[in-house]
Amino acid sequence: MINVLIFGPPGSGKGTQSVTLAEKYNLLHLSTGDMLRAELAAETALGKKMEAIMAAGELVPDDVVIEMIARKIDCTTGKDGFIFDGFPRTVQQAEALQKMLEARSMKIDLMLVLEVNDAELMNRMKKRALVSGRADDADEAVINNRIDVYRAKTEPVIEYGRQAGISRQVDGVGSIGDIFERLCNHLETVV
Ligand code: ADP
Repeated sequence: MINVLIFGPPGSGKGTQSVTLAEKYNLLHLSTGDMLRAELAAETALGKKMEAIMAAGELVPDDVVIEMIARKIDCTTGKDGFIFDGFPRTVQQAEALQKMLEARSMKIDLMLVLEVNDAELMNRMKKRALVSGRADDADEAVINNRIDVYRAKTEPVIEYGRQAGISRQVDGVGSIGDIFERLCNHLETVV
């Protein structure tokens, strides 16, 4: 089993790259953002509770995403590991994930960190807003807040990976294919 975390600010390409990495290495792609948006779309009680938080670009409570991830891990079969996209987003989530994996005799093997400058992020998300229908992509103030939340709450998780010797910085600017290749080069070292 290999477990990979993909990190990077909103708009850095985590989702796009995760889909093809998951395919190539037979990993289950777990995106907490996608899971939460599915709850919103299905108008579940949880989705309704999370809607305002997500629209403002704030983080939903840690226990909500931790619970979602645990449930997915436990019902997965036939995969060679997981690629975690948009999770963990806080140090508390990272600690919970580590415990969750340890309890199942697994560990985090690699942390890929996509690096993209703020101007490029803003451009990408504004473009994405035109097709995604995502309320949190449409408003510049919300985008800025998401970037701020990333720097304040999620970047400390990278330090956690750096200390564990599993984090790899990857230039996230370029063609989708080139970035994919850069990510694969790192993955090849752990498969
Ligand atoms: P982005 O494109 O900003 O990286 P995501 O699709 O990963 O967005 O997430 C969208 C929103 O869902 C976040 O802004 C946040 O409100 C919520 N969310 C997703 N994952 C998490 C998480 N691990 N912890 C808390 N909130 C999350």
